[in-house]
Amino acid sequence: MTTSHELFQRAQEVLPGGVNSPVRAFGSVGREPLFIDQAAGPWLWDVEGNRYLDFVGSWGPLIFGHAYEPVLAAVEEAAKKGLSYGAPTAAEVEMAELMCCLVPSLEMVRMVSSGTEAVMSALRVARGYTGRELIVKFQGCYHGHADAMLVQAGSGAATFGVPDSAGVPAAIAQQTITVPYNDLAAVQQVFREQGQEIAAVIVEPVAANMGVVLPEEGFLAGLREITAHYGALLIFDEVITGFRLGLDGAQGYFGVQPDLSTFGKIIGGGLPVGAFGGRREVMSEVAPLGKVYQAGTLSGNPVAMAAGLCTLKSLQEQPSIYEQLASKGKRLAEGLRAIFQEAKIPVTVNQIGSLCCLFFTAGPVNNYADAKQSDTERYKKYFNAMLERGIYLSPSQFEALFLSAAHTADHIEWVLEAVQEIVEGGLLAWREF
Ligand SMILES: *Cc1c(COP(=O)(O)O)cnc(C)c1O
Repeated sequence: MTTSHELFQRAQEVLPGGVNSPVRAFGSVGREPLFIDQAAGPWLWDVEGNRYLDFVGSWGPLIFGHAYEPVLAAVEEAAKKGLSYGAPTAAEVEMAELMCCLVPSLEMVRMVSSGTEAVMSALRVARGYTGRELIVKFQGCYHGHADAMLVQAGSGAATFGVPDSAGVPAAIAQQTITVPYNDLAAVQQVFREQGQEIAAVIVEPVAANMGVVLPEEGFLAGLREITAHYGALLIFDEVITGFRLGLDGAQGYFGVQPDLSTFGKIIGGGLPVGAFGGRREVMSEVAPLGKVYQAGTLSGNPVAMAAGLCTLKSLQEQPSIYEQLASKGKRLAEGLRAIFQEAKIPVTVNQIGSLCCLFFTAGPVNNYADAKQSDTERYKKYFNAMLERGIYLSPSQFEALFLSAAHTADHIEWVLEAVQEIVEGGLLAWREF
C-alpha cells in the first residue's frame, strides 16, 4: 500500500512543497497532508483507505458534495463528444444565458478557467472602461493570485500596498490601495483623496478567505454609493458566494447591485471554470467587441461547461437547498457556540448560509485584524483532534468551513459530539498567560 507519507516524500522532490497550491501542504496545522484517493457525497478517502467527513469541499465548488451523479453523467456525455474545440458551442451560450437570468446584475459574461483569471480580467475591464488605474481592495480579502491582488495592508486606515509575495513589482502593488473590511470611513477617506484616479473597488461581499467575516449592515450599500458618486466601478468577487448564498449570490442576499462580478468554484461544478460579467455597457469593452484584450485557449471548455451547467440547473431545480444549507449552518454555529460557552473557552463563530468559521478569540471578528486575534495554536490542536475523529476541516484557521447538500443533520450532530468530546478532554482548555 502507498501511504500519504511516502507520496509526500516523493512529491517534495518534484513539486514545490509537495503540492500544487500552498494551503494543501498542511503547514499551519503541523502535520503532513493526506493524499486523497477518492470521494463521494460528504466523504473523502485517503490513499490508505481512511474515511473522513469532509468540510473543505474542494474549497467551495462542491455544493452538492463529491461525485454528484448528475454532474458526472453530464461530464461523461460531453467528454465523449471531444474535450475541446477552440470554437463556440451551444453550452457556452446556455451557460451565459442561465447566469444572466439568475443574477440580475449580469447582462453579459465572459467565461474563463479560474477565479484568479476572472478577477484579473475584471480589473482590466474596470481600468479600460474608466481610464483610471487605482484599485481599492480590503485587507484579508483574497481575489486570486494575480500580481495586483497579492497586496495586503500595512497598518493604518489606508496605506499604499506593499507586495505580499516576492515577485510582485512594487509599481504594480502601488496601484492597489488596501483598507480594512467593514470600514466605510476608510473608503470615504481614500476616495476623498484620490477618488478621480480610482477605477474600482473590489470586495468579497462576504469575506470567506480570512475565515468567514460578514459585511456589517450598510457596508455593501455604502460601497455602492461611494463608487457611484466618484464614477468608479464596484466589483463583487463572488467566486465563493456566487450560487452558494443563493441563486443570485451575495448581491441578491444583500440587495446590492455591483457593476461587475466575478465567479468561479461552484460554476465549474468541480472543473476549472471562472467567469466575469456585468453591465452590458461595461462588458462591451471586452475584445473582440471592445478594446480590452482577454482570451483563453480553454475558455468555455465544453466539458467544464457541462459540469457547470448541470450544477447551476440542479440548483435552480431545487432552490429549497439554500434553506436546508442555512438551517444546517445555523445548527452547527449554535451548537459550537453552546459547547465552547459552557466550557468557558472564548470563541467567535461567524456563519452565513453554508459558510461557517470558528475563531479562537472572544471577538467580535469583523475584519482581518480581528481574525488575526484568533489563537492559531489552538486551531491547530482542534484541527488535529477532529482529523483523528474522522472529520476533515480546513487545514488553516483562515478558511471557511463549507457545507454541502450531501451533509445531513446527523453529520452535523456527529461533528458537535466530536467537538464536545475534545472540549471535555481538556485539549482546548483556556489558560490566561
Ligand atoms: C478561490 C477564490 C479566488 C481564486 O479562484 P481560483 O480558481 O483559485 O483562481 C478568487 N476570489 C475568491 C473570493 C476566491 O475564494
